[in-house]
Amino acid sequence: MSSKNKFYITTAIAYVNAPPHLGHALEFVETDAIARYKRMMGYDVYFLTGTDEHGVKIFNTAKKAGVDLQEFVDKNAAIFINLKGILNLSNDDFIRTSDKKRHWPSCQKLWTKLSESDDIYEKEYEGLYCEGCEVFMKETELVNGECPIHKKPPVPLKERNYFFKLSKYSDEILRLIETDKLKIIPSSRKAEFYNIVKEGLHDVSFSRPREVLPWGVDVPTDKEQVMYVWCDALTNYISALGYSEDAALFKKYWPADMHVIGKDIVRFHAGIWIGMLLSAGLPIPHSILIHGFITHNNEKMSKTLGNVVDPVEMAKKYGTDALRYYLLREIPVGRDGDFSDKLFIDRYNSDLANNLGNLVNRVHTLISRNDVGEFSFNKFADLYKTKVEETWKKYISDMDEYNIHEAIFHIWRLVDFSNKMMEEEKPWALIKENPEKGKAVLCNILEILRHVSIMLVPFLPETSQRIMRQIGLTGKEVDIKKDTEWGSAKKWLALGKQEIMFPRIESKS
Ligand SMILES: [Zn+2]
Repeated sequence: MSSKNKFYITTAIAYVNAPPHLGHALEFVETDAIARYKRMMGYDVYFLTGTDEHGVKIFNTAKKAGVDLQEFVDKNAAIFINLKGILNLSNDDFIRTSDKKRHWPSCQKLWTKLSESDDIYEKEYEGLYCEGCEVFMKETELVNGECPIHKKPPVPLKERNYFFKLSKYSDEILRLIETDKLKIIPSSRKAEFYNIVKEGLHDVSFSRPREVLPWGVDVPTDKEQVMYVWCDALTNYISALGYSEDAALFKKYWPADMHVIGKDIVRFHAGIWIGMLLSAGLPIPHSILIHGFITHNNEKMSKTLGNVVDPVEMAKKYGTDALRYYLLREIPVGRDGDFSDKLFIDRYNSDLANNLGNLVNRVHTLISRNDVGEFSFNKFADLYKTKVEETWKKYISDMDEYNIHEAIFHIWRLVDFSNKMMEEEKPWALIKENPEKGKAVLCNILEILRHVSIMLVPFLPETSQRIMRQIGLTGKEVDIKKDTEWGSAKKWLALGKQEIMFPRIESKS
């Protein structure tokens, strides 16, 4: 039966002017966790990420370095492509906007559609331009006459541009947000953006003259003009699926079920992008999930402060799953979060090494040493079984609301419960006095570990595999209906080789 529900999920595409930072890692890992969860729940998932490789900034950086533009973006894009391995991402595809074969034809097709809808017009534009943001700014957006991000006054600029009639779709976008046909998560962000749209959305500059933007997608009807970021970058979500040739992938997966983005680009995704799709007569995405920003020890990360946390270095030093655990457990979806070195090490040592790692280790050792015979999950099991069933309920209800950190919290309460039962029942002693009960305790906790290994699939895929290997569940895809039942795996449990999962980090201080 091929009636699986599809789930198309995307990250924003990363601008390749700078290497990946922790905020990128947060976005990729959150998106990956949702993609893996949906796959586990039986969805036909398509997960897309990619890189944004055009714009004046990239042009200038490459020029300054005296390198060829394409070589420059190839080199920088490779760093992002490599994150798949480093962060263990399960993306199905990776789209690059400098890809003239895969990406450009869709941008030009979409431009033509908007043009046919009479939504693109030419205008002499005069405004204040921030070179850092590569964007025209309104007086009201300035703080003391300066761009609030770049702390520099924008420069007056006059040029001929094509514009997109976003204002025409303002009311419709407002209704879509109001009715949750375009669901913005979390609701605080929805309210914030709703109020912006209520004021009315303005038309947006859609192209730049070639002499100021020499690096980008050509406007199909005008050699003098190059597409501005909107029709170039946002189009990645459909170009990757083969929109230009109306490919089977596009027909199958579009519209997106979820765009995952940072809080700084809500206006582009929930405003401009939706307007473009409406104009082209294309279905709009079902939801937009917005994540916050990360500070380091409560300070903004910056090169000048020298406090930038490199996700690649972290993953190499402490392991991919240790980094994934911190990002997913410590930073609630939708909220700003902080990275603290102390908290990272504390969480690693207490949650991963002591609570989880130790439990797997002890249970494995005790079962290896004692002949527990036939596994029995039904003796003295009520307490354990109830705990597991309760945890699954909470886990699924939280994951369906994208409360990732809460879902992880519930897994660790289950781990805590198991550790507590070990301490109370002391199966290593009990097995001598009352072998039947001693064996049952070990089997019940082993069965809990089986459930934990499944619950970890979306968050710590490697750890999940390592637990499965140790308790003899290798090479089997999770069947979410059968495998989440208590005791459903008794036929195929046989211990594998013991592994040390999270060696403790000795803190220097
Ligand atoms: Zn700026």
